[in-house]
Amino acid sequence: MIIIMESDATQEQIDKVVNRLKENGFKINLNLGDVLTVIAAIGDKRLVQPQSIASFEGVREVKLIQEPFKMASRESQKTDTVIDLGNGIKIGGNNKPVIMAGPCSVEDYDSLLEIAKSVKASGAQILRGGAFKPRTSPYDFQGLEEKGLEYLAKVREKTGLLIITEVMDTLDLPLVEEYADIIQIGARNMQNFKLLKAVGKYKKPVLLKRGAAASIREFLLAAEHIMYAGNPNVILCERGIKGIDSTYTRNTLDLAAVPIIHKYSHLPIVVDPSHGTGRRYLVEPMSKAALISGANGLIIEVHNNPDKAVSDGAQSLTLEMFEKTMKNLNIIIEMNLAIEKNK
Ligand code: PEP
Ligand code: MN
Repeated sequence: MIIIMESDATQEQIDKVVNRLKENGFKINLNLGDVLTVIAAIGDKRLVQPQSIASFEGVREVKLIQEPFKMASRESQKTDTVIDLGNGIKIGGNNKPVIMAGPCSVEDYDSLLEIAKSVKASGAQILRGGAFKPRTSPYDFQGLEEKGLEYLAKVREKTGLLIITEVMDTLDLPLVEEYADIIQIGARNMQNFKLLKAVGKYKKPVLLKRGAAASIREFLLAAEHIMYAGNPNVILCERGIKGIDSTYTRNTLDLAAVPIIHKYSHLPIVVDPSHGTGRRYLVEPMSKAALISGANGLIIEVHNNPDKAVSDGAQSLTLEMFEKTMKNLNIIIEMNLAIEKNK
């Protein structure tokens, strides 16, 4: 860590910081400038926490040199992680972006099958659908639970699409894991550390959504929890963060997170333009932008009758809109390939 002392810090205050670090085995490089004293300290920060040094008298600021996430970091692994999702579909690295699409909630078997057939024909490889739904209000539809998982499995059998579905609780995890090809952890649970550790015990791919108020560092540390517990197959998902606008958008889609994640982590990242905007008409432009920014995939809400959807109808594409969107996205994917070749 780098400790910057106040300009009027006394020698005694500097010594206190240095001694505390030295006592714990830190190597110190002291830089006594004309105006500021800067202390560079290398050691095990579990022994001396940066926050505790920050509260020493005479300390202006403490900065970390290394990223706090390790297994998820680019420093620990230079090459992109590629995750085999099954059915010959791979996500990450130079693989073609993976498109996941389907309703917000699994509502009934017939509509799920209709949506699945249609999104598959349009080019989606993975069917999304929530059986356990995190709802802001207890009076809203809460999900079909196990019945919903059964419908997803039946539709997978019929269409050959892989399925992604959310787990909300450690108690439901064994059941969801049995059905899902990709386990989704929702934004509201990004820092449910028990759940992160629990999915870490499995090897099944996990799609981890960014919390609505989570920094990129917190997001990567959440991924680190899953990896540290033993599951390296983590797919990150940018789904928008709380912004200052709630009139025109539901969330603020942070697309800069995509190249930032690629710079600091080797994990694949997909974008959810549906929750990221909350508005149907914004889904196609943000999907295009996500692919241009380097997303490894998209997860898009699609419904056969969005006006009647039990959740998130306003941000769900109709089947026809999704078909048209996919045609345009394929042009972007081709364009990206051409840019890649030009490098
Ligand atoms: C969802 O995918 O339906 C969902 C609830 O998403 P999020 O966790 O991003 O709000
Ligand atoms: Mn939704």
